[in-house]
Amino acid sequence: MNMLVLGAGQLARMMALAGTPLDIHIKAYDVGSKQVVHPVTGQVYDLSLEAAISESHSITAEFEHIPSDVLLLCQQSGKFFPGQQAIECGGDRAKEKALLEKAGVPSAPYVLVTKRSDFDKAIVELDLPLVIKTCQAGYDGKGQWRLKDAANADEIWQEMSAFLDKDPAHSIICEKMIPFNREVSVIGARDQKGNVAIYPVTENEHTNGVLTLSLAGVVAESIQQQAIDAYTKLANELNYVGVLAIEFFDVDGQLLVNEIAPRVHNSGHWTQQGAFCCQFENHVRAVAGLPLGDTQLLQPSAMINVLGQAHIPTTVLNTPQVRSHWYAKGVKPGRKMGHINVSASSLQCLGERIERLTSELDEQNYPGLARCAERLKAM
Ligand code: ATP
Ligand code: MG
Repeated sequence: MNMLVLGAGQLARMMALAGTPLDIHIKAYDVGSKQVVHPVTGQVYDLSLEAAISESHSITAEFEHIPSDVLLLCQQSGKFFPGQQAIECGGDRAKEKALLEKAGVPSAPYVLVTKRSDFDKAIVELDLPLVIKTCQAGYDGKGQWRLKDAANADEIWQEMSAFLDKDPAHSIICEKMIPFNREVSVIGARDQKGNVAIYPVTENEHTNGVLTLSLAGVVAESIQQQAIDAYTKLANELNYVGVLAIEFFDVDGQLLVNEIAPRVHNSGHWTQQGAFCCQFENHVRAVAGLPLGDTQLLQPSAMINVLGQAHIPTTVLNTPQVRSHWYAKGVKPGRKMGHINVSASSLQCLGERIERLTSELDEQNYPGLARCAERLKAM
């Protein structure tokens, strides 16, 4: 079976690695170079987008910022899952907020801003501090501003209006800054018959707006239930097919949605060894019309992101139940280059293993590991 993935980064690569044993062959469309490539080797195929669509049995996407003409072409083929609407909701915070409201899922209070008077209204209605986000651009915390003091409103507005002026379709949302206790996410898959399989909720740590560490197996049942409820409402509202990720703020045990990602997600990479069937395989299964695989937690697991490093030290493999995943991309400061998964039979043992890894993975490049190890050992 042939599958086309829009986007040729590490998520397409890991889908291809997971699809191969199922005899699913993935080609990727690089929206930057407009080339069809092999997502693992990078080999360029002599194939137009139209030809790649035509030879594929199904089509999916690894990210949400895809030109609308490409989305339309895929949608018209009738083979595109989760489809244009879901991808557009993930790529536009205004559409995403409208979806959350329609599905009855709580999220951070916000005001949509296209002109200065909207911004002034946000400052009065939402109260400071504000998190200000471009609706159509931005990832890993890029395309955002923070307004803590009304005295800085004019200065920030200069930058906001420059963004708005670039394109009449641009908008910005101002959100209330949520005083969360922690960030969590849920990853789940929905198949073509509407069956749903949901992984245990993951606890996530961000450093400077980028995910650095995910932990599975530490979240209470009441949180899991709220996440399942939100997941089911949103996936059904979109008649979703594939893996959908939802990021939340946990505010004193109550979940508020931060954002959704209509795709496999960085906070679900631990499923490659912490669950029987990983998010990549479940996504490929759903898109290909196959039944979903088991999403239960096998063992407590952690995922450590490798950001801006030239390699992953092979010595990490001396620690039991550690696996290293390299994306083979050109190195740039802060760029997601790979990740390390680690599992153990208990949270305490996971803490010991993470502690052992701190001798290879220093605090500056891998923040939060020592703290995480201490906490797990005390559980
Ligand atoms: P990514 O693509 O990595 O998920 P992003 O650029 O889409 O990131 P968000 O997830 O919206 O951006 O925000 C990045 C981080 O900024 C969040 O994980 C959270 O730590 C912080 N943040 C965003 N919105 C708020 C808010 N309303 N209140 C408090 N913190 C926030
Ligand atoms: Mg996010």
